Amino acid sequence: MKKAYYGNFGGQFLPESAMFALNELENAFFKFSQQKKFKNELKRLLKSYVGRPTPLYFAKNLSRIYGHEIYLKREDLNHTGAHKINNAIAQALLAKKMGKKKIIAETGAGQHGLATATAAALLGLECEIYMGAIDVQRQALNVYKMELLGARVNAVENGLKTLKEATTAAIQTWVNDIERLFYVVGSVVGPYPYPMMVAHFQSVIGAECKIALKKLNKKPDYILAAVGGGSNAAGIFNAFIKDESVKLIGIEAGGLGIATPYHAATLSKGKTGIIHGMKTKVLQDDLGNILPVHSISAGLDYPGVGPMHAHLFESKRVRYEAISDDECMKALKLLCKKEGIIPAIESAHALAFLEKLCPTLKKKSVIVVNLSGRGDKDIQTIREYKKGTIYG
Ligand SMILES: *Cc1c(COP(=O)(O)O)cnc(C)c1O
Repeated sequence: MKKAYYGNFGGQFLPESAMFALNELENAFFKFSQQKKFKNELKRLLKSYVGRPTPLYFAKNLSRIYGHEIYLKREDLNHTGAHKINNAIAQALLAKKMGKKKIIAETGAGQHGLATATAAALLGLECEIYMGAIDVQRQALNVYKMELLGARVNAVENGLKTLKEATTAAIQTWVNDIERLFYVVGSVVGPYPYPMMVAHFQSVIGAECKIALKKLNKKPDYILAAVGGGSNAAGIFNAFIKDESVKLIGIEAGGLGIATPYHAATLSKGKTGIIHGMKTKVLQDDLGNILPVHSISAGLDYPGVGPMHAHLFESKRVRYEAISDDECMKALKLLCKKEGIIPAIESAHALAFLEKLCPTLKKKSVIVVNLSGRGDKDIQTIREYKKGTIYG
């Protein structure tokens, strides 16, 4: 099997004109990511700029409620508020080493756009962000932040005007100006080498988590992470994947329920297909048209998923479950009230699975939840929840 594949999934499904750039990127990644100078520079930025290592926090109150030992990996404490910066800053650094002057990126809720704009400002790169026109309206604050950081935000007016269309527009722009641009992909998606590269840059989450648990003399029984494209999950799973005694669970967006058309549960309900340069599980109709997706969480609202997750799903190494908007919002409020932490709505999907998992466990277990981001960006959505405006 080619290294570009995870089992039956992955590959490079882009026009011939993009192959040169993908090869160039693959070579640059292997060259620089193994260089001591690059590694030290990245390590320094992750420490002094991003704020790593992030704590592994023992959630005492949550543990008491659920009757198990629950730890939170605090990616919400990163600069810009989520795990996305780990990858954005690493790719921007790689772009700089490759001599590129300009980076572009897609964004849905705006978190990856914000992280990329931040990295561009830091490293002195020009930056342009592609964002669906509806998301531009919904996430006005993030748009303003990106502009404040010096990036240009392009509103994409095609189709449903959300993340899928923004990604398509970013790919097109890149393919048309491939020598000059570096495309910073925001999750473990897209054509090879992106899924492998993003997983590598996010693996710092799991590596830190493993060290922190070891210091506490603990072995995890379960690790939970929300899955949109799958990068925070890939990041924390990576350190534990070889140890079959650690059970890994990815949580998808169940929206209004996976029996309805209003969800983004790609692995629960998708079929094998091609999207954004990769072969993976895709939410599609019988003709292969990509279906509209729906979730209260803009960061999970994507009809595809990283190819490694499609493979981990098929090989059954990782279990994938869907959590509905209502279940997620209940868990979000519980964390606010009991631990004093406002999580991102994406992360609250992973938290919500505790409610289902814990009562089924026979022995007292150690459970780690990857708290991928903080809820500041979601305050308006949380306020409007149940007022009938979020699905308008
Ligand atoms: C973007 C985002 C996600 C989903 O993306 P993955 O690539 O699946 O990690 C999850 N949580 C937060 C806070 C995000 O910003």
